[in-house]
Amino acid sequence: MKRPLRNNSHLPHKLCVICGKPFAWRKKWEKNWETVLYCSDQCRKQKKKSKRPNNGNGSDSIDD
Ligand SMILES: [Zn+2]
Repeated sequence: MKRPLRNNSHLPHKLCVICGKPFAWRKKWEKNWETVLYCSDQCRKQKKKSKRPNNGNGSDSIDD
């Protein structure tokens, strides 16, 4: 009883933190899926637009 792979429903899904829409795993995310928060580059850019109240000076630092 094999099911044909009709669509991406067998793949992991997440909800975009910007637009709230569900999006499915993609090949390009195979190495960083756990860190993917946005469904698209558009949403990623929107994140950069919004100001953080906590971050008034300087740019994002990679060091944590
Ligand atoms: Zn989105």
